[in-house]
Amino acid sequence: MNGGHSGIGMTSQRTRARMVERLKEQGIQDPMVLAAMAAIPRHVFLEDALQIRAYEDTPLPIGYGQTISSPYTVARSCELACNGKRLEKVLEIGGGCGYQAAVLSKLAQKVISIERIAGLVGKSRNTLRELRVTNVLIKIADGTLGYKDAAPYDAIVVAAAMPYIPEELLAQLKPGGRLVAPVGSGDNQRLKLVEAGPEGYVESDLEAAKFVPLLPGVS
Ligand code: SAH
Repeated sequence: MNGGHSGIGMTSQRTRARMVERLKEQGIQDPMVLAAMAAIPRHVFLEDALQIRAYEDTPLPIGYGQTISSPYTVARSCELACNGKRLEKVLEIGGGCGYQAAVLSKLAQKVISIERIAGLVGKSRNTLRELRVTNVLIKIADGTLGYKDAAPYDAIVVAAAMPYIPEELLAQLKPGGRLVAPVGSGDNQRLKLVEAGPEGYVESDLEAAKFVPLLPGVS
């Protein structure tokens, strides 16, 4: 029997296809997003002992007290960010192990991903290199106020819970751009969508969310 990534079939393409079926049942509809979720192996972002659980719909530990978001959470954020269209440039805040950035790499021409923990950045760069993902730029920085140098963005996806959405962040959206972010703390988080419309920012309150908190500074 093979060791490593192929394991006992729990990390195979078929297992991933079942995950995608479940995402459809959970309401994810965008075929581009479903194809991206089917294409990116989630298990390679996890340590060996956790790989067997990679396609369960649950967050899992990635070290440094952080987690990889659940497949549904990633698919949902991507679907909201894309709104049925391919994106030119997207900013992710809270890159973690790089999984969502890899999914976004299939949905956008260019992905900028900000992560404050240097150890995670090192790992995620390696994983993305192994997967031959070349259109993701990972930066070590505090992403609270976004990343002005590469702005404006078609979409900004925040993967850590913010107390509120800073104006500086919204200012980095293109006209018509969309920001998806969990707002709140602990068990009191809501997933919000903000669209940069012709008459200003339009915010929608979507659903309950559960993300790790956005923290200040780099580490
Ligand atoms: N997108 C990831 C989710 C990682 S969890 C995935 O694909 O699974 C959220 C990440 O946000 C953590 O790695 C955490 O270190 C990071 N984070 C928290 N506050 C941050 C900040 N101010 N700037 C950048 N990253 C931050």
